[in-house]
Amino acid sequence: MQIQSKLASEGLTIFTIMSALAKEHKAINLGQGFPDYDCSPELRERVSKYLNEGKNQYCPMPGLLELRKAICNKISRSYDLDLNPETQVCVTAGGTQALFTAIEAFVHPGDEVIVMEPAYDSYIPSIQIAGGVAISYAMKYPDYKIDWNHVASLITDKTRMIMINTPHNPTGTILEKEDLEALELLVTKHDLILLSDEVYEHLIYDEAQHESVLRFPQLFERSLAVYSFGKTFHTTGWKMGYIVGPEYLMKEFKNIHQWNVFSVNSFLQYALAEHLQDPVHYESLPAFFQKKRDYLTEALVDSPLKAMSSKGTYFQLYDYTGISDLNDLEFAKYLTREVGVAAIPLSPFYKESIEAKVVRLCFAKKLETLDQAAERLNKL
Ligand code: PMP
Ligand code: GLN
Repeated sequence: MQIQSKLASEGLTIFTIMSALAKEHKAINLGQGFPDYDCSPELRERVSKYLNEGKNQYCPMPGLLELRKAICNKISRSYDLDLNPETQVCVTAGGTQALFTAIEAFVHPGDEVIVMEPAYDSYIPSIQIAGGVAISYAMKYPDYKIDWNHVASLITDKTRMIMINTPHNPTGTILEKEDLEALELLVTKHDLILLSDEVYEHLIYDEAQHESVLRFPQLFERSLAVYSFGKTFHTTGWKMGYIVGPEYLMKEFKNIHQWNVFSVNSFLQYALAEHLQDPVHYESLPAFFQKKRDYLTEALVDSPLKAMSSKGTYFQLYDYTGISDLNDLEFAKYLTREVGVAAIPLSPFYKESIEAKVVRLCFAKKLETLDQAAERLNKL
């Protein structure tokens, strides 16, 4: 039988490719974004407690009510917004599923979705699967800023949605208050939905404040905001997250969610609901990760790789201009094979080819791991 893929291209994600290459060459993996240390022992104990207590059957479709209430308390504390746990929150199988389901729910065949490139790799395939058309705005080296007048010029009568990501993977940039204000004007004027990927909400540095869509009442009325417990509690393998939004959008989101997931893993929801009661678990993250960012920056200060200071996420870009003429994919492979440190190139996050000579390193690693990686990179 002839299978016609819904996707424009086939192939593996860059994370799979680079992690496999890292394994093959026994390289230190600063490529794919995941911690090489464990989550907190308290959280592990909570998980085993609820697992052993028999919390092993279906949870309600939008998630355990205790967890939805804990999420609302966290949002009220972080963003001064009171949400209704019954109608405005849905627990999902990670941020990726929340994004995917939101796109399936609101993007109809032929609808256009504006994405900011470099774009996290699941966005464009998710739009294509829904039959939508991704319209790219390219953020450019070296500051990766967004010109909102240019974004406005991409809006047509087919535009349905804009997607943003702040703090931003892979550049480590963040959106400022003025960006969100410009966006608020755009989505209101053109009657658009905003899908805001905020999975790195707590990984933000140098005393900056995360400008969530939840801080802008008019914007929130047209937005869905996506979060991931994988980033917040160092548990990327659990694939647990949530999405929030106004009731009329969440109603349709859940309408679709019930047919592809119904409800996610039960005992983890009980454990997360309890763990969220103490804000120290997420409010300590900026200091925790800033220390790692600064440690790697310092360790590489004499290397020819030049750090482009990360303001958020657990990634930092490194500029290799002047070291090599290789393109970023080949340079990332060279680092992995010959230097023994895996990195992620930026070109797979763009539709068009790019010239910039930068690669992304992940600093969510033990200090010993960062030391070992720096020792190798300093030989460049
Ligand atoms: N969005 C961005 C920008 C990400 O970097 C990631 C994963 N690292 C996700 C979404 C997906 O999160 P999850 O692992 O919870 O699906
Ligand atoms: N989000 C992670 C990163 O950017 C990887 C997620 C994945 O492997 N799909 O590195």
